Amino acid sequence: MTPIPPGSTIGILGGGQLGRMLALAAAPLGYRVHVFAPEVELVAADVAAAVTRADYADRAALAAFAAAVDVVTCEFENVPSDALSFLESLKPVRPGPTAFDVAQDRLAEKRFVGGLGGRTAPWHVVDGPADLEAGLARLGTPAILKTRRFGYDGKGQARIEDAAGGQDALRALGGRDLILEGLVRFEAEFSILVARGPDGREVHYPACLNHHSGGILASTEVPAAQLDTAHVVAATDLVVRIADALGYVGLLACEFFACADGPVFNEMAPRVHNSGHWTIEGAETSQFQQHVRAICGLPLGPVGLMAPAVRLDNLLGEDVARWPDLLADPGARLHLYGKSEAAPGRKMGHVTRLLR
Ligand code: AMP
Repeated sequence: MTPIPPGSTIGILGGGQLGRMLALAAAPLGYRVHVFAPEVELVAADVAAAVTRADYADRAALAAFAAAVDVVTCEFENVPSDALSFLESLKPVRPGPTAFDVAQDRLAEKRFVGGLGGRTAPWHVVDGPADLEAGLARLGTPAILKTRRFGYDGKGQARIEDAAGGQDALRALGGRDLILEGLVRFEAEFSILVARGPDGREVHYPACLNHHSGGILASTEVPAAQLDTAHVVAATDLVVRIADALGYVGLLACEFFACADGPVFNEMAPRVHNSGHWTIEGAETSQFQQHVRAICGLPLGPVGLMAPAVRLDNLLGEDVARWPDLLADPGARLHLYGKSEAAPGRKMGHVTRLLR
């Protein structure tokens, strides 16, 4: 397969911090980046060669964007699938629309992963009060009711402590197109990041041990010493099977619950992932450059650690005000995303520490 050579332009749908870090990783390899997104504030556009500010339904804008780029990729997973299919008729879209169809719908995702032999939380489709009652009777409480689509960072979900609280959660989440999940009693949470090229070659990073606060990633540690090695191998095998089954090209992140009897798949992100930000300084090849290599058909890079251990801390909301102290700390590698509003829980930046 002919590579998309340095000097080409990578089109990125989405304009957030992931696009910003992708653009910063593409530059040393000689690629330019063109960002397409509708929002007014586009922190990726600050470091991009070109930007199109338009709606994902704007066919004329999408066609002009496709004409200006050599390959299209996404930095968030909720890109409308119509836009992806349209772009795919004009330029390579990597990863392709199928990965998004699966990842955008928690039900499709669970069925798909279950079909590949992966274990998920027990689930029940909920489209109204009777479904919820049947689901709670089958899965018990506590349970978690989630929207099938458009959930992220713990948004679009509600924990149900007892059957009496169920109907309030149902109303709060819109009453239909929901999925009820049994509560997984996990010991830890981790993610596996795999990169796959157009020729099917794959590399994977060491498992990332993740700590969440209020459904949002707070910190990641590597290596994940407390995880059972056999469970990490099983999870990595599953992610490779997922990537192969999707004909996936690019970096794929999957989140897991570590349980005493093995890993439980939680969800996938068809893109670079917050739990991989430590790879910028902490791995031989960052997840961002790895994604660029994969989608351009270049050789994939080595994934070894640059230190015995690496720690990533997110700067959420007002945490960003700590930047002067973090800059004064010689062990802290600070990344700020250039966002104007430090809303509570908003990802404003991160700090990586290489530990001896
Ligand atoms: P999600 O948006 O599905 O990744 O959920 C956000 C966080 O909620 C996860 O990282 C877990 O900490 C928790 N969570 C989600 N689903 C479950 C579940 N079925 N059982 C236990 N905890 C869950």
